[in-house]
Amino acid sequence: MFVGDYHTHTTFSDGKGSVLENALAAKERGLAEIAVTDHGFRILTMGFKKYLRAKKECEEAEKRTGIRVIAGIEADVVSPEGDVDIRPDHVAPIDFIIVGFHKFAFPKNLSTFFKMYFVTYFNGLIRTSKKARARNTRAIIAAIERYPVKVVAHLNHSLRVNVGEVAAACAKKGVLIELNAKHIKALKGHWHELAESGANFVVNSDAHRPKDVGDLQAAFDFAVKNGIDPARIVNYKE
Ligand SMILES: [Zn+2]
Ligand SMILES: [Zn+2]
Repeated sequence: MFVGDYHTHTTFSDGKGSVLENALAAKERGLAEIAVTDHGFRILTMGFKKYLRAKKECEEAEKRTGIRVIAGIEADVVSPEGDVDIRPDHVAPIDFIIVGFHKFAFPKNLSTFFKMYFVTYFNGLIRTSKKARARNTRAIIAAIERYPVKVVAHLNHSLRVNVGEVAAACAKKGVLIELNAKHIKALKGHWHELAESGANFVVNSDAHRPKDVGDLQAAFDFAVKNGIDPARIVNYKE
């Protein structure tokens, strides 16, 4: 069984449901915890004030449902130096930070756009060069070293990285690698590196609709079939 789902979206960014609807859906699935992780602040619809409003709704939803509702952010890595789209003074007040990369977020500057973003529009057509992959890898690792990140979301999806290197850095820092129900295929060909890395995992839905909250079984089964020990998936309990 699963204890929680730590990556869900609401109308505070591009999700369809409210915080309460996500929490109710999680409760219905038998989860004890849920994190609301709307997109970071460079996506223009999300700002820090909005986060504080979302946090308030999380507190209310927690009271209403009786399950734990964590107020988080899915931050974007926006530069090769590992900057994320959260102002330094806003980092500490955020309860739970996961980091990912989204090609439609705003890069820190034009040079970053060409270094990191441009090629991600053509994934499948253009292969990420070895040099770019190494740079992307450094970006993700720098982000987990600079910020109190709990989870690396949808690793190797969109932004191609050296999966084994990121996994080793996550193992060292105690950061979880996400098994993302929507983007689990991005880990294809890298399962042995993940298994050998010593990192732990969390399986998340990345739900954008309440009905997808807690829909974790297929991604879990897929990861286990590919050699991940269920004991290393922290939100799974036998
Ligand atoms: Zn994402
Ligand atoms: Zn997401």
